[in-house]
Amino acid sequence: MEDCLFCRIAAGQIRVERLAETDELFSFPDIQPMAPVHALVIPKKHIVSLAELGDDGWPLVGRMHRLAVEVARKKGIGESGYRTLINTGPDGVQTVFHLHLHLLGGRPMRWPPG
Ligand code: AMP
Ligand code: ZN
Repeated sequence: MEDCLFCRIAAGQIRVERLAETDELFSFPDIQPMAPVHALVIPKKHIVSLAELGDDGWPLVGRMHRLAVEVARKKGIGESGYRTLINTGPDGVQTVFHLHLHLLGGRPMRWPPG
């Protein structure tokens, strides 16, 4: 998927700050932060969205959350709290079609979300 932005980031073709990394996952700051801490966690493998995840993909989503919790601790918001979320499809306002988990924190989140 050479035309996919997050595949290019995962492959190191676009330089970003590396917040955390495993064999299969990568975390970097969101370019347009919506909170003092706003990081993304992506699989290195191209997966379009949660809706496209195969039956064997669910443990990966758990590991994405685990890495987000590690990033939250590294960024000093492990105790104050944070929000993790995945936008899926048009009504979820997904804009990048490579699965990604948002980690938001550093301020109280609003509820209900927009
Ligand atoms: P979503 O609406 O869930 O698809 O979110 C996509 C996110 O990717 C947005 O929050 C964007 O700000 C973020 N984004 C887009 N391009 C980049 C980039 N080059 N580096 C980091 N984050 C990006
Ligand atoms: Zn991709």
